[in-house]
Amino acid sequence: MGTKTIKQYTLPATSLGNARSLTVIQYGDQTAKHKAYIQAGLHADEAPGFVVMHHLINLFDQADSENKINGHIMLVPVANPIGVSQWRDEALKGRFDFFNNINFNRRHLDITAQIAEQVKDRLGGTPESNVALIRKTAGEVLGSMAPQDEAAYLKYLLLLLAFDADIMLDLHCDYQAVMHVYLGTPLWPDAADLSAQLGAEVTLLAEDSGVTPYDEACSRIWWQLAQKFPDRPIPPACLAATVEMRGMADVCHAQAQQDAQNIFWFLQRRGFIKGAAPEVPPLRNEATPLRGVEHLKAPAPGVVVFLKAPGDRIEKDEVIAEIVNPLAAGPENRITPVKSAIKGILFSINTDRHARPGRILAKIAGKVPIKEKGEDLLSP
Ligand SMILES: [Zn+2]
Repeated sequence: MGTKTIKQYTLPATSLGNARSLTVIQYGDQTAKHKAYIQAGLHADEAPGFVVMHHLINLFDQADSENKINGHIMLVPVANPIGVSQWRDEALKGRFDFFNNINFNRRHLDITAQIAEQVKDRLGGTPESNVALIRKTAGEVLGSMAPQDEAAYLKYLLLLLAFDADIMLDLHCDYQAVMHVYLGTPLWPDAADLSAQLGAEVTLLAEDSGVTPYDEACSRIWWQLAQKFPDRPIPPACLAATVEMRGMADVCHAQAQQDAQNIFWFLQRRGFIKGAAPEVPPLRNEATPLRGVEHLKAPAPGVVVFLKAPGDRIEKDEVIAEIVNPLAAGPENRITPVKSAIKGILFSINTDRHARPGRILAKIAGKVPIKEKGEDLLSP
């Protein structure tokens, strides 16, 4: 007998007779202490994660049929039922709520203050007891909430599903990019096996990106509470990561199958699947601070011609792209070079080749912080 279950959660309807649902697939013992949660498509226009989910389900179905699931595994293959319905102008949008223009992966719930208020006199002397108390309290805090708005409810529901997970992977992609991973600083280097197994070229660390994406809503609670209660042992108990599975058009079975296999091996190594995973491959590049990322912006309108590709090593003051303006007088004025301000790894470029002043054209991961704490460290 397999352990797989499929459950639907209904979102509050925005339109009469049009309630949407979220599908959750689970494997293993749903009361187990150890839980891994994986979702795809919170940005519903980011296709690669859905295909990785397809291959992951195959792998978990197989493992389940062999009775190899250890602990509790929860998959949300399509995490944004609102976003996947946002067809407009022959394109699936899926990144911003149409009603208020809020990014589906920003402004997730921050329940640290409510948890702190309730646990301040009850924290104990062991990490295990504190993890259990904080998870129980987080469940109670979330249980007392009931957002009415559909998108707010979706964010709430996703946190309700994952807040007690030991591992949470949120599968995304960038525009045109190499594999990269966003993690909380306190999770490094413990999570280095994730980046290494995925073959990530870049791992970006932040304690607080300033805009509360979903992974931070799951993980940041732990180090914020640890900072509030320095004399109590509170470990970073949720390894939450946003995994950027290359670019929008990087959708193929061979790659998705390998990505799914890498996630499977990572979870196997972490004890969620019986049996031994192969040795962790070497980490491609040491993690760098999210505050060290340069968001290279267009200085002028025109058409962008990139001279560098994602994965390239960039020197300071190197020309990454040229903006072409065919109306400018003289050939030398028709080209505006766009130079990097830092040395680092170019990990993402925009797919749209139209520039307007201030638009982000490319992202470069540098080793030295160039942004202040508290700034919005993510692109819109
Ligand atoms: Zn995304």
